[in-house]
Amino acid sequence: MHKNLNFIVECYSCGLFVKKDLNSKLTQRCPRCNSKLQVHKRHSKDSLYYAISAILLFGILNVYPIISLNLNDTQLKTTLIGTVLILLEQNFFLVAFLVFFTIILAPILNSLVIIFAFIQSKTKIKLFTKTLLHDSFYFFRHWGFIEVFIVSIIVTYIKLIGMVSSTKFDIGFYVMLVYVFCFYMSNRKFEGKSVFGE
Ligand SMILES: [Zn+2]
Repeated sequence: MHKNLNFIVECYSCGLFVKKDLNSKLTQRCPRCNSKLQVHKRHSKDSLYYAISAILLFGILNVYPIISLNLNDTQLKTTLIGTVLILLEQNFFLVAFLVFFTIILAPILNSLVIIFAFIQSKTKIKLFTKTLLHDSFYFFRHWGFIEVFIVSIIVTYIKLIGMVSSTKFDIGFYVMLVYVFCFYMSNRKFEGKSVFGE
């Protein structure tokens, strides 16, 4: 009996109980008064796929350089992690930590939280409490500044190309664009309601 209630939604306007149409992507309407029904859609698996893609792309991203340039016959390249290392070498510890946390750690943990939320909602595995997943999801989402990083790369690129004309975006930059897309989509498609029961 309890199980069947999950497939029924009450119309807020007229009180009619309506069977949920779980397969339709459109907003469901009450057949009696035509007002919109608050049907919580099932968890969109797209979010999971985007999160997994994001993590894989992130791995690839760290292999390929983002920007490369030729200077006196030597080729200079920098990767994402290389940027953090350069900052460390220059003794910008705080900046290096901030870049590492907001560009690398927070986005990765955000994707991992999404993946864990899916695993826990589909299986009996309960590694983390819902509250912890919920809080960390929003925490890492607020602290992920990968888009700021992209803007700073473009600014760096514009500055460098003024000085060294051989400056070019390398494979890593394009991988990064796809990565950011997947990262955003995984967050957009993620429906906390169905996982955390808000
Ligand atoms: Zn109604």
